[in-house]
Amino acid sequence: MAPSLKELLEEVECPVCMEYMLPPIAMCMNGHSTCSTCREKLLTCPVCRCLFSKARSLLAENLVRKMRFPCRHSKRGCRKTFNFLCVRKHEDECGHRPIKCPFANVSTVQCPWVGKATSVKTHVRKMHYMPSSDFANITVYSQVPKFNQEYNEVEWLLPLFCMQDIFFMTIRVTENNAHFCLQHVGLRRKTPNYKYKVRIKNDDGPDNSVMYNAPKYTECEIEKIFKEKNCPVIKQEIWKKFLQEDGSLAYEVKIFQNS
Ligand SMILES: [Zn+2]
Ligand SMILES: [Zn+2]
Ligand SMILES: [Zn+2]
Ligand SMILES: [Zn+2]
Repeated sequence: MAPSLKELLEEVECPVCMEYMLPPIAMCMNGHSTCSTCREKLLTCPVCRCLFSKARSLLAENLVRKMRFPCRHSKRGCRKTFNFLCVRKHEDECGHRPIKCPFANVSTVQCPWVGKATSVKTHVRKMHYMPSSDFANITVYSQVPKFNQEYNEVEWLLPLFCMQDIFFMTIRVTENNAHFCLQHVGLRRKTPNYKYKVRIKNDDGPDNSVMYNAPKYTECEIEKIFKEKNCPVIKQEIWKKFLQEDGSLAYEVKIFQNS
């Protein structure tokens, strides 16, 4: 009787991480296989404790090359299968992968929602009242209140929903510098498609200060971005010139697609 796909899949499971072993597959002196990620972290074979061989398990690699792998989110409803080259890429973008509410990552909003990637937009529209715009670019005018509080750091979050994607603009004043960081929520591969422009301006005059940058992926640590000034930064001498009478700072952010 031919082995079932399930039985074959069990044969190519790594004994350490229980993930499928994808080429290159490492082997110990006794012939046990381990995935290459776990192999790098281990000194001896996880099954028999003997040393690893320099040889790869070509039989297992050839088997893996011929197999179809179910998506790891199959229990959540994904019915797709892929060859070993495509399965990981699909899993990163699978519509059934569980996603935390993007607001829980970037703000003090305590939102316990976890759901399918394809449901995030419906969730933020309904629960966080985010209006969306489908234009090819979006320009938003906003104001950071109490911007000139020198005794305290100011942080301001502006969520934006446009071009079928969610963005978070975080503005933070530290050591007299104002940072304007835009983060993109969604598929990582789409982040490089976007650019943004920040403009601070004064109501009365033609004076303004304009900066361009590329948004960062949502998983990039915002503290690191601010520390390394890896986003538009405006010095105090400059932003002081643009303060409104009530001490707030008016700014404009435009998000657009790279052409
Ligand atoms: Zn492993
Ligand atoms: Zn072994
Ligand atoms: Zn899937
Ligand atoms: Zn939420």
